[in-house]
Amino acid sequence: MSQQGYVATPPYSQAQPGMGGYPAGFGSSPAQPLYGHYGGQPQSFPAPPTGKATFLWSLIPPVKSSVYVLKVVHTPPTYPAGPGPMQNPQASPTSPPAQQPFQTAPPPTMGQTTLGPPPTGPHSPQMAPPQSPLAGPSMGGHPSMGGHPSMGGHPSMGGHPSMGGHPPMGGMGRPVPGPPPPGSGGFQQPGPGAAGQPGYPQQPQGQFGGQMAGPGMAGPGMAGPFQGGAAHMSGPPQKKLDPDSIPSTTQVTEDDQAKRGGQVYTTNLRGQVPPLVTTDFTVQDQGNASPRFMRCTTYSFPCTADLAKQCQVPLGAIIKPFATVPKNETPLYFVNHGETGPIRCNRCKAYMCPYMQFIDGGRRYQCGFCNCVNEVPAFYFQHLDHMGRRVDLYERPELSLGSYEFEATLDYCKNNKPASPPAYIFMIDVSYANIKSGLVRLICEELKTLLDNLPREDGAESSTVKVGFVTYNKILHFYNVKSALAQPQMMVVSDTAEMFVPLLDGFLVNFQESRAVINNLLDQIPDMFADTNESETVFAPVIQAGVEALKTAECSGKLFIFHSSIPTAEAPGKLKNRDDKKLINTEKEKTLFQPQKGVYEQLSKDCVSQGCSVDLFLFPSQYVDLATMGDVPTHTGGSIFKYSNFQVEMDGEHFLSDLRKDVEKAIGFDAIMRVRTSTGFRATNFFGAIHMNNTTDVEMAAVDCDKAVTVEFKHDDKLSEETGALMQCALLYTTVNGQRRLRIHNLSLNCSAQLSELYKSCETDALINFFAKSAYRAMLNQPLKTVREILVNQTAHMLACYRKNCSSPSAASQLILPDAMKVFPVYLNSLMKTGPLVGSADLSTDDRAHQRLIATAMGVEDTQLLLYPRLIPLHNMDVASDVVPAPVRCSEERLTDAGMFLLENGRSLFLWLGQACPPELVQRVFNVPSFAHLPSSLPVLDNPQSKKLRSIIDSLLDQRPSAMKLLIVKQKDRSEMLFRQHLVEDKGPYGGASYMDFLCYVHCEIRQVLT
Ligand SMILES: [Zn+2]
Repeated sequence: MSQQGYVATPPYSQAQPGMGGYPAGFGSSPAQPLYGHYGGQPQSFPAPPTGKATFLWSLIPPVKSSVYVLKVVHTPPTYPAGPGPMQNPQASPTSPPAQQPFQTAPPPTMGQTTLGPPPTGPHSPQMAPPQSPLAGPSMGGHPSMGGHPSMGGHPSMGGHPSMGGHPPMGGMGRPVPGPPPPGSGGFQQPGPGAAGQPGYPQQPQGQFGGQMAGPGMAGPGMAGPFQGGAAHMSGPPQKKLDPDSIPSTTQVTEDDQAKRGGQVYTTNLRGQVPPLVTTDFTVQDQGNASPRFMRCTTYSFPCTADLAKQCQVPLGAIIKPFATVPKNETPLYFVNHGETGPIRCNRCKAYMCPYMQFIDGGRRYQCGFCNCVNEVPAFYFQHLDHMGRRVDLYERPELSLGSYEFEATLDYCKNNKPASPPAYIFMIDVSYANIKSGLVRLICEELKTLLDNLPREDGAESSTVKVGFVTYNKILHFYNVKSALAQPQMMVVSDTAEMFVPLLDGFLVNFQESRAVINNLLDQIPDMFADTNESETVFAPVIQAGVEALKTAECSGKLFIFHSSIPTAEAPGKLKNRDDKKLINTEKEKTLFQPQKGVYEQLSKDCVSQGCSVDLFLFPSQYVDLATMGDVPTHTGGSIFKYSNFQVEMDGEHFLSDLRKDVEKAIGFDAIMRVRTSTGFRATNFFGAIHMNNTTDVEMAAVDCDKAVTVEFKHDDKLSEETGALMQCALLYTTVNGQRRLRIHNLSLNCSAQLSELYKSCETDALINFFAKSAYRAMLNQPLKTVREILVNQTAHMLACYRKNCSSPSAASQLILPDAMKVFPVYLNSLMKTGPLVGSADLSTDDRAHQRLIATAMGVEDTQLLLYPRLIPLHNMDVASDVVPAPVRCSEERLTDAGMFLLENGRSLFLWLGQACPPELVQRVFNVPSFAHLPSSLPVLDNPQSKKLRSIIDSLLDQRPSAMKLLIVKQKDRSEMLFRQHLVEDKGPYGGASYMDFLCYVHCEIRQVLT
């Protein structure tokens, strides 16, 4: 097993008090965590400079500036906590033992067994399908297509344009990236800008830099230090820094939108850095997967492990295999090779893709991943043109596109039997709390209409997903809802130790057919339990029952569990309250987040092997041990929703919106993902709502459109600049229709012996996703303080390496940031202030555990927004325009007493009003005369201001994976604390430095690395 996560150094010689504004925790601790991701030799920090601190900033004037310059006139005590960060010469007597590395447990923390030696990249064993010989006809009734790919199911496919005169596909398995085609590529995309659009202009040097002339250039396209800054620095030292002078996320976002927004991004170039996740753009697949499916931390990998170790920039990809494709982009093409199945390399088992090089007149092909030369099957033979390309190149998605799907043959099905459509089982806790709150009635009412919207195949009239119902408290009640029945029948299982499903026929049914019986049941449930006084619940047996039901029905599926309290009834998986705020900031804090082992661990395994995903809706009024209750959902591709102190009137709509999104979303089941790479590097580490039985197969009971897997890569040899770094993500899954399919995403990156190329091609939003997931995993095994230290040190190291190797010489007092990473520090600081990492007794343990678990499966868009919320000024909005006002920086300084602001981070939504907010605006939006009378919710009013505000909120809610409840916050009110937590550029209310202080701190760390 390779090293997981971060590796820090052995003992340190210096103690370090509270870092970056955090309390010092349990005594002073090591001062020199060795950042390190690559397990390098320990490096020590020399003694820091001493003195008083004043910083002078100057922002390079040109709009395209790549570098921010910081001059340190003296040196810093800018930290809230205690003496200067690095000035304690010796560890105090209370200092803990030598700092441990991020002792990350193997990916999902459930009894990992390593089977045999770790695989060696492309030579590793074949993915999932059993090795049995081909048998029977291809499933799903698709005829064998001979030489023609089936385009079944995609009406938009009709007739491919002739692809005759297109230039070669740049960079895909070919030595030299070609220029982008003059017109649109192989497969025409509908929608704006598709036809005849040249796409994004060619940028062989990468996206950044290259335009800033001046003395500071370290090379073409590279950022150099600002050397003409002396003038800016003249004058007396400033006491207060201008916050506008430090790198701004809102500015970076706006600039990218201005530069690349509204454009067609064609994926024909290897190593091309895509627009930011916040930018609106249209993707045209021309040989590499859309950034919606795969995003990398850098698009230029270093050629050697040494370089990778030197720069400490993690090499990662965030893969969201089911990402939603906007309506104006082409859905994935579907390829059916009949009973032959997809064509794969004999050696590494990579699937046919644009990186396979056809040779020998088209009779053989060389695999781009392992270089093995394979015979072309007779049915697949095609002649090559004078450029050596197959003449049918543009007629076959698998030869010309980054993403597509294959029909999977029986080989890819469990027990060589065709898969069945999945089932959704609704499991409702009918104990006293849920009945009394009205929740049970609310759920039952909603299901009557919601079940009409179960997911279905594109174009299908109705869903084939089956449904089943269970209610429970200390015992379980199963319902027979067979369509032939006049009344539903209940069967009770009170022995929760040996869970079984008491009925076969009639439990899982088609909703359309059984509608009458089901509606009858849903009408009866709230009344049946109306007089209950049972307050104890079981939990693990509920999941067990769901798995057993799916096992019996031989299908995959999802459990929707609506649960109220910690399961204390005598049964497997019984939990007790183990919340202990005294553990916070101690060595044992991590135990609060570690799930209870045993029953739940085994349940996760059972669920995954059955393709049973668990979605948990929690309605707690107190601690429920979310770390344990959330364990099965987070290993089965599931989601966890939490509504504390649920009240139907206040929270009902929020919950129902979540439930609707969750039930209706696009999803695949019983999935297994494998990431193959070209020689020289391989995937070593995976983060997500996943389960791993070995080191390479990522198992997901289900994967929906919002779930992402973050993958880390490591070198095992040299990479070549010529061939680049190729990756292929293959996801085998069952559709909502019960079809077995393979979804393939290919991506090609550049490789360079120059670190400057790597820094130029970095993607900050992807990097922070990686850092968040690895830190949230590391906190299970290490004290938070250590985790935070490692984060800061790795950051300092990344930036110091840039400084040392990629920028031209400059005064040590200057802070020089690579253009593509210039806002990384604000994200990192925000990450360290998030609930899970902040270590504050004022936060609920369950909330912290919840945030930790949901972030594990987040894609880049979600972590970006979570760590840098949008703060939108609304007091000056133009009601006549459709445009959402531009967000401002997340800082109190941007708020105005007379202002009204919306803040959202994808999880929380606030409407903040200043005390001097104009009464006319208050009247129009809230229908009350003044600030003092503000209601707790937003009324629906018929005036332009109210309509505009509500339409902005609706459009935000529409874009997010989960619903958000709007909280109205008055300036200086008690509730403002919740809101202020999200002003991430300010000092954190629960600890953590302001952005400015943090940047100064990072700068000191960089200087130490450099000296
Ligand atoms: Zn191969």
